[in-house]
Amino acid sequence: MTQAMVVTGEERLLVDGVLRPARSGRVFETLNPATEEVLGVAADGAAEDMDEAIAAARQAFDETTWSTDVGHRVACLRQLRDAFVDHAEELRGLTVAEAGAPLSMTHHAQLDSPVESLAWVADLAESYEWERDLGVAAPLGLPSHRWIRREATGVVGAITPWNVPHQINLAKLGPALAAGNTVVLKPAPDTPWCATVLGRLVAEETDIPPGVVNVVASSDHALGALLATDRRVDQVSFTGSTATGRKVMAAAAGTVKKVFLELGGKSAFVVLEDADLAAACATAAFTVATHAGQGCAITTRLLVPRRLFDEAVEATANVLAGLPAADPVDPGTVCGPLISARQRDRVEGYLRLAVEEGGSFVCGGGRPDGLDRGYFIEPTLVVGVPNSARVAQEEIFGPVLCVIPHDGDDAAVALANDSAYGLSGSVWSRDRDRAIAVAGRIRTGTIGVNGGLWFSPDVPFGGYRQSGVGRESGVAGFEEYLETKSLAEPA
Ligand code: NAD
Repeated sequence: MTQAMVVTGEERLLVDGVLRPARSGRVFETLNPATEEVLGVAADGAAEDMDEAIAAARQAFDETTWSTDVGHRVACLRQLRDAFVDHAEELRGLTVAEAGAPLSMTHHAQLDSPVESLAWVADLAESYEWERDLGVAAPLGLPSHRWIRREATGVVGAITPWNVPHQINLAKLGPALAAGNTVVLKPAPDTPWCATVLGRLVAEETDIPPGVVNVVASSDHALGALLATDRRVDQVSFTGSTATGRKVMAAAAGTVKKVFLELGGKSAFVVLEDADLAAACATAAFTVATHAGQGCAITTRLLVPRRLFDEAVEATANVLAGLPAADPVDPGTVCGPLISARQRDRVEGYLRLAVEEGGSFVCGGGRPDGLDRGYFIEPTLVVGVPNSARVAQEEIFGPVLCVIPHDGDDAAVALANDSAYGLSGSVWSRDRDRAIAVAGRIRTGTIGVNGGLWFSPDVPFGGYRQSGVGRESGVAGFEEYLETKSLAEPA
């Protein structure tokens, strides 16, 4: 099925400016989830590699001018952005082959937009107010001149998932570096090459000094825990599931480091009585099919007025029928494969659970016919489950949308907020003020009104409640990687 693509990977880790194998010499395989074929291998980093990477990042922070020379950092980030642009076509092939990302997505969220976020954050660092004068005050009778300086936090341990690998790797690396930090990046075992290729571009095509960026791929999930526990690391920046985020937060407590968490979601798509139902349902269907639902901010609960329930279900199912699971290389594909057999097992477990909880499938519900290789699941519409059902409460991370009726705006808000998560959402009404009022009552970090898109380098993204702590992107995302130092002198 999948046509041959040019895929250039990178086997080596980047530690202290050197591209090298793991000290053990071990490697692990990286697969194409659409074909189940082995793409190649990556060095299998272990504790000794992580130890060297942390030491290198510490030394680069403490003993070079990286953290104080903003002009050099800005120039290096622009070089990295240019390197990504120069290699865009091989990176596009890699993203489709390794992450199973539909080709169309590489033209925005999966590749091209994150690359441009490097340019945005370089501009921000260049114009940023690193010092702010607070003037003179005499709180204890001694007139003092006070000012604030923003400084890099230090060594940042970045732990990332596989679903949008370049976007998340760069959303951490860009602001952390622009702020003057040094970084050790530990990518997900499912997408090592997306990170090791980044390491190669850093080493070969930028003037980023040795030790400032380190990339330690590994087949061992637990290797990331070392970044949380090591006292030489000042901050851990984690994106992944809420379950793992909890462990990272607990592990970081021992050394009381800054913890930045981007976690899971179960976001609500709220359709109000007066909405453009066809447009809303088409958008909800398209969103959940995108990248087989493997997006933390994807809306997976469709809340529709009870009176319009059947009409909404039919409209959504009709659109989903036109978005079948298919070869991600095809430019028309929206729903590609799940990342792994393990992830497909997990999603199939939730499909069985949906039936046990009294639900039924209007469309989808299993593997597609005619695709005997690859970890595909059909886009699936579930009806008949209450909002309290586990399938409506837990993050499935597959192309599965639960449709739930509501009885008016207040009830819709209550259902939307009846969740442990609070990452994203959508509200639809022909009355803009009504939609914005409902959006304001939903406890979530990002929300679109009538299809508005917030995804952009200048817009902060992050979660309320168990969807995370802190914000990625925007000025707020940059400032996550800064400390604040207050200074005073006699006036
Ligand atoms: P995951 O939590 O299994 O793994 C994420 C990363 O943590 C991987 O690099 C993994 O190797 C590492 N890890 C696993 N156990 C660890 C431990 N004990 N200590 C330290 N690191 C450990 O998540 P995943 O399956 O890779 O990604 C999917 C999840 O990521 C979903 O829950 C999704 O919602 C979430 N996600 C959130 C955002 C966001 O911005 N909020 C974005 C993308 C994905």
